[in-house]
Amino acid sequence: MGRMVEELRNAINRYKHLLKGGEIDYDKTLLVEEIEEELIENAKRNDEIIKILDNNELTTALAKLTEKLREDYVRVSEKLGHRLTNFDEALEAFLTGKKDVPGFNIIFIIIQAYARLKAQLYEEEKGNINNSTAECPVCGAISRTMLKEDERTYSMICPFCGYKWIVSTNGLRCPYCGNTDKLAIGVFTGKKLKRLGLAWCQSCGETWRVVLDKGIKVPRLFLTALSFGAEIYRNAIPRDADVTDS
Ligand SMILES: [Zn+2]
Ligand SMILES: [Zn+2]
Repeated sequence: MGRMVEELRNAINRYKHLLKGGEIDYDKTLLVEEIEEELIENAKRNDEIIKILDNNELTTALAKLTEKLREDYVRVSEKLGHRLTNFDEALEAFLTGKKDVPGFNIIFIIIQAYARLKAQLYEEEKGNINNSTAECPVCGAISRTMLKEDERTYSMICPFCGYKWIVSTNGLRCPYCGNTDKLAIGVFTGKKLKRLGLAWCQSCGETWRVVLDKGIKVPRLFLTALSFGAEIYRNAIPRDADVTDS
């Protein structure tokens, strides 16, 4: 078992009580992690792939790696015990968000692995950059997970590639509209246990999840899953205001 899989397994065992309703499919989650770790480790040993990921935006890099993705597609389908379906259709489905096309989940796993590797390379080079929006600077995904680093510093974590960026060094800030008025952003959390919270910006109406307890040490991608535990506070938000979360 690889290091990443081991870390994820320990994290799930330790924190599954925070997952609302425990809706995580344990075996499947670990199998996917095992496959992604293998893809990442194999890619790391290939200088050509590293060069392409290092020197290009993710979408450009993926276009240059299409033949590699095609090979991965066959192997990952096999590993998951899925019938091999059309690669080009699956890739097209991923790029246009058509989740019900066969092979979507296979291509999702493969592209996520390369995105995670790109995020690692990016972080090694640039660290955790300042970016005041919810859009991941590495892969472009929109994050709904914020991490409170200290009283003034807040980061966002990408749910797709795991990159972490600093969204504010000057107190809580809405990553969707830029509102910094503390009185206009509410964070709903437990009366005693303040590990997770649900933030609501009265200025734009967006809601997002906040990990309030930095002591929760888990792999970053799992932290985005874990943060769903904050959904139990959703009924604290005035109903007519809750319009935009996805
Ligand atoms: Zn990302
Ligand atoms: Zn806002």
